[in-house]
Amino acid sequence: MSDRLRVAIVGSGPAGFYAAAAMLDADVPIEVDMIERLPTPWGLVRLGVAPDHPKLKTVSRAFERIAAKPGFRFLGNVEVGRDLVHTDLVRLYDAVVYAVGSQTDRRLGIPGEDLRGSWSATEFVAWYNGHPDFQDIAFDLNAERAVVIGNGNVALDVARMLALTPEELAPTDTTDPAIEAIGASTVREILVVGRRGPAQASWTTQELKEMGELAGADVSVDSADLELDAAGEAALEHDTNTRRNIDVLREFAEREATGKPVTLRFLFFRSPVAIHGDGKVEAIELVRNRLEEQDGRLVAVPTDERETVECGLVFRSVGYRAVALPDLPFDERRGTIRNEGGRVVHDDDKPAAGVYCAGWIKRGPTGIIGTNKKDATETVALLLEDVRAGRVRHREDVTADAVEATLADRGVRAVLYEGWTGIDELERAAGEKLGRPRVKLRTWDELLDAAERVAQTPAEALSEPGR
Ligand code: NAP
Repeated sequence: MSDRLRVAIVGSGPAGFYAAAAMLDADVPIEVDMIERLPTPWGLVRLGVAPDHPKLKTVSRAFERIAAKPGFRFLGNVEVGRDLVHTDLVRLYDAVVYAVGSQTDRRLGIPGEDLRGSWSATEFVAWYNGHPDFQDIAFDLNAERAVVIGNGNVALDVARMLALTPEELAPTDTTDPAIEAIGASTVREILVVGRRGPAQASWTTQELKEMGELAGADVSVDSADLELDAAGEAALEHDTNTRRNIDVLREFAEREATGKPVTLRFLFFRSPVAIHGDGKVEAIELVRNRLEEQDGRLVAVPTDERETVECGLVFRSVGYRAVALPDLPFDERRGTIRNEGGRVVHDDDKPAAGVYCAGWIKRGPTGIIGTNKKDATETVALLLEDVRAGRVRHREDVTADAVEATLADRGVRAVLYEGWTGIDELERAAGEKLGRPRVKLRTWDELLDAAERVAQTPAEALSEPGR
């Protein structure tokens, strides 16, 4: 029987993998079960990062190396909350690390938000990336004008994906239905609408710059929006990213249209107040904002000035939102599990022994992929501190077999790392013929069938080091 500490990591995105790496490299012997509801790992690296950003996805090679470390086991197709609940995890493992991300989108809370043609960025991104829960959505992109609400990197991803030409999409792993729908789209103008000014946008400069390098879209910015007030000028002084963003926007503002089929227009200081239409989106009503300092932050305050813009599509890209997990303390205001540096704490501030969190569910939906390395390593440092202090200990009845027995009892057939490798190989082989990184399997049945072809039992997998 192993005397290694057995830890469950819930979620297989960047935070989950970086937490696994920190544990498997630690000087304390640890076995990790990474529990994931999908049959596929990598979270937003597979299902969120835009398909035309293959470089960002190369981080998956690091995840593959982590998965090959002795003591790592992947249990895909196991949903916490359905197949196993928190109390099961506490019984079956010495410690649990939640790295489940932020699974849903923030709402605008305005009339018309649910009209046909008004989509959350989360839905659109999950659809074009092949998330199996989002493949039944029929995205009708037949509209003259699309409006993207939000000034973050996801809004840029959405606007850019809408504007890509078939030639730009062809070498990517965008799903075939999405390539078809985007290729057949009649969208000629895309408005990216920010509620505050260009100096407050949360884009990273590289992502903004790319918007000016598209084969099929001209960019347009009203130079009047780039005249900064004192607060905007002050932001340029101390924030390099903002300064660079403004430089890029100023260069965009100087450009003449070159007659490309699509125009991508940036609008600032406007908030949506209603989406209008008879059964489907026909127009969006925007209110002009001014900026006001409140509690040290510049906030958008509506004026009396309103405008209605005809459009057939609205994409709401105003941030992700975490979903509270049953039996775990949740901080509604921050949208995270209640925690201190990654140690989960109850409402009375007492730590929940042996329970941790990492990534977006710990700090909120901010930062880039690499941010999660530091974040998850910090969480694991606290876990190791608790181990060394004797607050977290290996219990004899905590075994890999006990997990397997529980899953078998409940009729759950986990997809192991070998199963994922089967999916991965099939997808890559299909892609290779077409000069694409992969052609993704998009339905639960396809994914589970592909995994099943190379199926092992969890015990077989564990007996192979590195799986
Ligand atoms: P984000 O950066 O937080 O941006 C959300 C945007 O929505 C902000 O501009 C925010 O404006 C706006 N917003 C929020 N509530 C609104 C409302 N009620 N009405 C109008 N606008 C509203 O979030 P994100 O774009 O979803 O990205 C999430 C994280 O993933 C970010 O850290 C991002 O950098 C990262 N990411 C990175 C990449 C990449 O590196 N290529 C790609 C995608 C995502 P305010 O600022 O006024 O609140």
